[in-house]
Amino acid sequence: MKAGVIKGFVTFVAIGLVAPTLSRTFDTRMFAQDNQAPAGGGAQMPPGGTQKAGSSSTEVEVLPVQGNVYMLGVGGMNIAVQVEDAGVVLVDTGPAAWSDRVLAAVHRLTNKPIRYIVNTQFHEDHNGANEAITTASKNPAVIAHENVLKRMSAPVGSTSPRRTSEWPTDTFFTAFKDLYNGESIQIFYQEDAITDGDSFVVFRKSDVIATGDLFMTTTYPPVDVKAGGHINGVIEGLNRILDIAVPVDKQENGTLIIPGHGRICDEADVVEYRDMVTIVRDRIQDAVKRGLTLAQVKAAGLTLDFDGRYGATAGPWTTEMFIDAVYKGVSKK
Ligand SMILES: [Zn+2]
Repeated sequence: MKAGVIKGFVTFVAIGLVAPTLSRTFDTRMFAQDNQAPAGGGAQMPPGGTQKAGSSSTEVEVLPVQGNVYMLGVGGMNIAVQVEDAGVVLVDTGPAAWSDRVLAAVHRLTNKPIRYIVNTQFHEDHNGANEAITTASKNPAVIAHENVLKRMSAPVGSTSPRRTSEWPTDTFFTAFKDLYNGESIQIFYQEDAITDGDSFVVFRKSDVIATGDLFMTTTYPPVDVKAGGHINGVIEGLNRILDIAVPVDKQENGTLIIPGHGRICDEADVVEYRDMVTIVRDRIQDAVKRGLTLAQVKAAGLTLDFDGRYGATAGPWTTEMFIDAVYKGVSKK
């Protein structure tokens, strides 16, 4: 059963009624990892990964989350879609190769225009489709922290890493920015976390948070040290998300969380991830204080108890790369 893909209105409504429960049963590996399979390649399912209801690595997964917010699972990353009478807000646009499928999925949810796009950071798997989607949508505002624009553009006289048509059109440099689209939407900037330009987005009335890569269920945080990332910023970001999120109380829904990658989550899932990241950071920090070299830290097995769930020995974000990033961060004075 392709439960997550809209095949018809009846299926869609049925999913809507059970979404929070159903989504929690999805295997985290139904979504491939960062940067995998953007070019229509669906063969990236890790060994042992099972295709469960709604999963198909070349199709966009459409899952109602809560209120007016939906999640699109797009080749391993997630896009949040908020649908209102006045139009649509997207949090991230996905890899370039998926733009047509993302647009088709949005248009099956609504015939309203896309008004705003928020980019949670500059990595291309989250905004590679900016150009195609804005062109097809009468140029909605593309909102991001100014550091996202800095990393997509280049100083005068240098070649820009990304085409002008892909850049954010509306940047902010403050701690947060407010939007309104049928409900209050807040964009919070998190300094120096995965990169130096991360944001997470809170849909106040729908009670949904789209976290970007500050939170994910598939891997250790992909801290990009070269782009200003630091493990301490990731932990701070997770704590700020937890300050805002309300726990799920029995049958009443609390805040639901759309991670950068992985399944729909709630506050308890973020607590678990925050605790894991904090424990690993503390262990590596302690090893650094004791004078261990990077090679010694890598050999010490400091992540072993979490590797089964978040680790990888191959692919775009391995356990070694994560340890390396944490080590570099905590070694800085
Ligand atoms: Zn990502």
